[in-house]
Amino acid sequence: MEKLRDAGFKAYIAGGALRDLLVGRNPKDVDIATNARPEQVRRIFRNSRMIGRRFRLVHVYEHGQLLEVSTFRSNEAEDERQSKFIKQSDEGMLLRDNKYGTPEQDAIRRDFTINALFLDSGDFSLVDYVHGLKDIESKVVRSIGEPGQRIAEDPVRMIRAIRFAALLDFSLEPDLYEAILVNASRIQQASAARMFEEIKKLFLCGRAHRVLELLLETGVFGYMFPELGNVAVKDSPQHQWLERIMRQFDRWHAHQVPVSGELMIALLFGKYHEALIAQAMADGMPPYPAAETCVARHMARMNEHVSVPNAITRHVAQIMAMQHRLATPKESAVKKLVHRACFHDAYIYFKISARFDQARDDAVTWWEKHV
Ligand code: ATP
Ligand code: MG
Repeated sequence: MEKLRDAGFKAYIAGGALRDLLVGRNPKDVDIATNARPEQVRRIFRNSRMIGRRFRLVHVYEHGQLLEVSTFRSNEAEDERQSKFIKQSDEGMLLRDNKYGTPEQDAIRRDFTINALFLDSGDFSLVDYVHGLKDIESKVVRSIGEPGQRIAEDPVRMIRAIRFAALLDFSLEPDLYEAILVNASRIQQASAARMFEEIKKLFLCGRAHRVLELLLETGVFGYMFPELGNVAVKDSPQHQWLERIMRQFDRWHAHQVPVSGELMIALLFGKYHEALIAQAMADGMPPYPAAETCVARHMARMNEHVSVPNAITRHVAQIMAMQHRLATPKESAVKKLVHRACFHDAYIYFKISARFDQARDDAVTWWEKHV
């Protein structure tokens, strides 16, 4: 930041990093906002590179740390209107015209007031155009601007609001809460490409059990995963399953155990996939192809709303396909199974599902002696 200032630019700590610092959490990365253009940032830091298609950011590597430097810009909705001015970058990449703005415009294009504060690195003053500090102090997630309109612009903001409320133990400001209730079904119009990343953040944030409560009470869950059907019915088997899975995610987070995207997806849809597989087997399909086909078909349907990378889909299918063999263990098959790439995740899945099932629990005892 000193380097930016020495070159005559502003350098603010922004977004999630500053929010985390103000609530006393360790920020996982640092975002810097500046009035220097990406090309100018590139020239100041030799060890940096341009990233991003839609908006160009600069990744700067300094003192073994990665810093994300973005240029102040103005509202996305305006950017959308400008999208006919599509340009090519130096790397030949197609990108939309960046619409740069003032610090104030950059603050108000952000999603929530708690995410829109700046800390001026020159004099350490807080630059607060949206009364974000007041909301941090009173622990409220509040939309910048009219919540219904901000959700219509970008429905992903509903699940971001829920994530921040759960994670920070903040309340949702009443108008925002109301707007989420009214607009819940719009989550299906969110960009499928971004949904997978946001869903991972949502369930692996460390407060997934609270996330689940909020998703269910606002009705967003039912639109995100309509196939999970009766989950909103408290204490239905699906609800019990999800509740336990969420608690498990939170325990892993508390112990800093990383969870792969494939294991997360496998567990999230576990109960549903098992029902599909049981049906296919009852229709005469052998266990392995039944598992692979059911998972692949479901993921293909889901792709419309949430695009899960193919490699992950295949891995989830493998995890589910292995369950039958884990449940009916044979000494002769141990070696072959444990060397499979997905054995680790499949076995974790199996152990967790065994908590619902005595027969599987006996198989776990067998496995513990053999691996
Ligand atoms: P975390 O990194 O912990 O998920 P974050 O707040 O840093 O939280 P990012 O997704 O990294 O979230 O985004 C950085 C900042 O960009 C946010 O703090 C917010 O100001 C802005 N932002 C992110 N997503 C949106 C969005 N959908 N609409 C408006 N602003 C957004
Ligand atoms: Mg961030």
